[in-house]
Amino acid sequence: MRGANSYLGSIGTTIFTVMSALAVEHRSINLGQGFPDTEGPADVVRAAADALLDGRNQYPPMAGVPELRQAVAAHDRRFYGLDVDWQTGVTVTSGATEAITACLMAVLDPGDEVVLIEPLYDTYVPVVRMLGAIPRIVRLSPPHWDLPREALAAAFGPKTKVILFNTPMNPSGKVFTTEELGFIAELVRRHDTYAICDEVYEHLTFDGQRHVPLMTLPGMFERCMRIGSAGKTFSLTGWKVGYVTAPPTLSPLVAKAHQNLTFTTAPNLQRAVALGLAKDDSYYAGLASSLEARRDLLAAGLAEVGLSVLPTHGTYFITTDFSPLGFNGDDVAFCRYITEHAGVTGIPVSAFYEAPDAPRQFARFAFCKRPEVLAEAVARLKTHFRGQGVVRTQSTTEPLTAAG
Ligand code: PMP
Ligand code: GLN
Repeated sequence: MRGANSYLGSIGTTIFTVMSALAVEHRSINLGQGFPDTEGPADVVRAAADALLDGRNQYPPMAGVPELRQAVAAHDRRFYGLDVDWQTGVTVTSGATEAITACLMAVLDPGDEVVLIEPLYDTYVPVVRMLGAIPRIVRLSPPHWDLPREALAAAFGPKTKVILFNTPMNPSGKVFTTEELGFIAELVRRHDTYAICDEVYEHLTFDGQRHVPLMTLPGMFERCMRIGSAGKTFSLTGWKVGYVTAPPTLSPLVAKAHQNLTFTTAPNLQRAVALGLAKDDSYYAGLASSLEARRDLLAAGLAEVGLSVLPTHGTYFITTDFSPLGFNGDDVAFCRYITEHAGVTGIPVSAFYEAPDAPRQFARFAFCKRPEVLAEAVARLKTHFRGQGVVRTQSTTEPLTAAG
């Protein structure tokens, strides 16, 4: 039989699916894939349920129901002072994942170059490649994940069409500073390129750090596509409702990409998310502070286990360096080992790197879980590692495949 798509044939199943399946198999506490273990706000869920019953279940408008597009524009004005026209500047997608692809489709031609910042979310490189474009990847290094300005500047060239990056950043928990964003803005302007800003964790920042969209910087509105996700903002990751704010020049192209990907997104969920986005400031503050408390709980516990915990100022995630435990194997082996032997699952951070020379001693843990679940995970790790001193486990031979 003739080969099917060679690129898709060459990549593995996403690490999030692989590790969640392993967690189920071993009944371990899943601090791998980033999803909360509680429901989102009851009034938003109720609104979605009610909206199913009021007879508006046929195809909604392609770019999104008016009430959600209006709510996104109002949200962007309220939080960031952006002046967005809901009719010419907002597209609703089926999750930020679709939004990322739609934004890339909106600007890329085959042969264009895309600047990416590693560690990176695992759909970025596959989609860039499948569109016939070329990734130019710049690497941030732990523990501080500072922007390597020279390397970033060197990645931009005459073929660069767009930079795609994520702040607050998964898995590092880095929140880009205004100075770093200013540096990126200068490169975007100088090279006459666009920026796709994956801001799904925009409301999940801690320690008084504030998320700043690149789009708010001088001259950036015309060049940016800003992506949000109801999954993160309302702790409803299964809903897959995303939204893109873009200038009137780009927004129709994002909508046309969406037209050819999914065309529309479930109308009841859109209408419920519109209600959610209008929630008062206390909702947003409560979301961040509740996650911050759980970050602190998990960070303290993992440190007591003996892991070296890297600082995280946003997202659902903590990155840890497990080398102090003396584990004899790489991050993939470590995450498999703790799933099987300690009953706790994490994600190997090398899955967020494209190059084979990725660091191999970091594991990511999600803290978007109930405090008692985090406490139980820490207790299990302590029980397992206590008294063991150096762990002499050999790395497993069976490889786990990960995309990206
Ligand atoms: N970007 C990043 C950085 C993410 O971590 C996620 C996590 N799901 C997404 C995009 C996708 O969001 P969604 O579930 O809305 O598709
Ligand atoms: N964004 C989630 C994470 O980083 C996973 C999303 C997915 O499973 N595709 O854990």
